[in-house]
Amino acid sequence: MRRSLISFDTDRIKEYVFATGDLKEIRGASGILDELNRKETERVIKRIDPTAEKIYANGGSAMFEADEADLCIQAVENLYSAETVTGSISGAFQSADNSLSFKEIIKTLNYKLRTVKDSSKSSLKPVTHPFLRTCDSCGNEYAGYQGDDKKVICLSCKKKREKDLEVKNNIEAILSGRRIKPVAERYEIWDRLLPELMESKDYDTEGKDRPESFNQIGDLSSPSGYMGLIYADGDSMGDKLEQLESEEEEVKEFSETVDQAIFQALLRAIEKHLHPNKEDQYFPFDILMLGGDDLVMVTVAEKAVETAMTIMDIFEEITKEYAVKKFGKPLTISVGVTIAHAKFPFGSFLKLTEDLLKFAKKKGKGRINFQVVNAGNSLNFSEDYKNLFKHKENMIKESRKFVRTLRPYDTETLRHLIEQIRNLKKGDFPRNKLQPLREAVFSDYGYSTLTGLAVYSRLKEQRGALKGIFEAVANTDGDIPIVWFKKDDSYYTPFLDVAELYDFIPGGE
Ligand SMILES: [Zn+2]
Repeated sequence: MRRSLISFDTDRIKEYVFATGDLKEIRGASGILDELNRKETERVIKRIDPTAEKIYANGGSAMFEADEADLCIQAVENLYSAETVTGSISGAFQSADNSLSFKEIIKTLNYKLRTVKDSSKSSLKPVTHPFLRTCDSCGNEYAGYQGDDKKVICLSCKKKREKDLEVKNNIEAILSGRRIKPVAERYEIWDRLLPELMESKDYDTEGKDRPESFNQIGDLSSPSGYMGLIYADGDSMGDKLEQLESEEEEVKEFSETVDQAIFQALLRAIEKHLHPNKEDQYFPFDILMLGGDDLVMVTVAEKAVETAMTIMDIFEEITKEYAVKKFGKPLTISVGVTIAHAKFPFGSFLKLTEDLLKFAKKKGKGRINFQVVNAGNSLNFSEDYKNLFKHKENMIKESRKFVRTLRPYDTETLRHLIEQIRNLKKGDFPRNKLQPLREAVFSDYGYSTLTGLAVYSRLKEQRGALKGIFEAVANTDGDIPIVWFKKDDSYYTPFLDVAELYDFIPGGE
């Protein structure tokens, strides 16, 4: 019998990892999935077929070449169901028949896997029995266990908490130098991250710990109480994978390149932006999920945007040579960043960030989109963009289109803009002069221009900083706009974006 190619994909990863807004449960869930994906899947398959070969296993997906494909799939599905309780994985196989090219096998396999996933079981079982209590944490499952915080929780949440504790002990062991695993045996994200950070010359890990809650990250933020959520995702990675034609080796290389690159990009962004302060007990960030080309993390509020940009740039830089040779163009990732109060309900925090990311991807590749949650905006950027940020005005001769934001940005433009925001802050450009400009963009062209002129007339040397803002985002040709500048067939303004970021860009560094 010819061997088969088996493909796995974890079902509804985010639903499982983010079933609750509790930091410990989130990263416990993430740790369980990492271990199942990177280690246990292979172990279970090799027990059935010792000659099985791993093509890749990361990012919640896996591909193996093995005999007894049916048994392998069943075993891996059972493994996931036992360890996660509420999570699941789907598998499909295609025999490596000589009559099909590798590309055709992959195509068929993808199709089969999609079909299996579409028909796969729903994880939510409604609780109906009146004497049974639902989990205090996720609210979805029957509760049967006492948590250490007086909550009565379900088996799924219990397992997540246990995993988090295990990782916590492991972190202590790593930091104290008692246990550094060889690289090939590092599965969970902190297992992979910490030894690298410890080796990094000017990153101080001594006496530091992973934050215990989102509020602790809020406490470390400036302004205090806020937190940044970063959601990064590779652009069209599935399409790229389908372009690889000839052999397994290519798929393996692609998967490893992307997996390594996102990790390295993350590591370097942490080294650059996320140093713990000497007097603080906790690292100013945490990783909630990292797999394949998908990354979800939280940081202190004032570092979120720049951390995200560094991840994007380094990822592209590291993969460039490989990607240009293979696909004729670089690999990119897009990012959504939300800044909100750390007490903001995590479910909404994540949803908003997902929407920001989706919007960024719709507008192109390698873009960053951001939003600061305040009283003025709704919790849906795409809706705001349609209803609030875009408007049309009928002038005497023509109808003009206005857009009140330049989001999403490419990193080069946003870097320039942030530099100019720093200049504003250095030049003591008062927030109360920015406020009328921010409000002006919501009135009509004539009125907003008048307001702009009024603000300009009261400025002296700070005028240069406002000029810098326009130069950062537009090709002004020496002509300095007041509030709006024209690009293609629309008028744009950077002031809303500047006002949103202003408080979250550390000044004068
Ligand atoms: Zn639960």
